[in-house]
Amino acid sequence: MTAYISQNAFWGLLLSAVEVYKRECFGLLIGYRDRKGPEEMFIVEHAIPFQTAARRRRTVASNPRAHKRIEKFLQSIPHLSVIGDFHSHTMWGYSRAASHPSDTDRESMLTDNVYVIVSINDRLRVVPWKYNDDGSLSGTTDDHHFRLTAYASQADAPARRVPILCPYALGFDARPLHAVR
Ligand SMILES: [Zn+2]
Repeated sequence: MTAYISQNAFWGLLLSAVEVYKRECFGLLIGYRDRKGPEEMFIVEHAIPFQTAARRRRTVASNPRAHKRIEKFLQSIPHLSVIGDFHSHTMWGYSRAASHPSDTDRESMLTDNVYVIVSINDRLRVVPWKYNDDGSLSGTTDDHHFRLTAYASQADAPARRVPILCPYALGFDARPLHAVR
């Protein structure tokens, strides 16, 4: 399984986390599932923050009725549905944001859905966006360091990390080696 994150969804994830920084954001991942042979892909087209989320420093709660309204609304849009959700883990004081799911996070993970945790911290130094060995994607933009980690579970097995594919993130801050004048 792989989680493909579009340019749109990438910015949605980052901006949602930045907007409420020092509190957690919560939102829905909208897109579709694609299967190529044995390989299942989650195609995340949009990451939409929940305006009705109850935000706290360590937790964030969704609104089940709002969630239902959005799912119903998406039924009229071909190819798009809610395929999971995202929330942020944020720096607080000197303790930096974790990238692993809490027990509560794990309990809320359903089979065949994808979940993204956006860990957001103060930037210590500028680092380019890159894929990490554990499948996560990390880098700095403006004053923040981000790490995006995706989880999914299949056939009722516990959720596991799945690699993120986001070609846009690796390219968007690349500069040409030689400026052309
Ligand atoms: Zn969490």
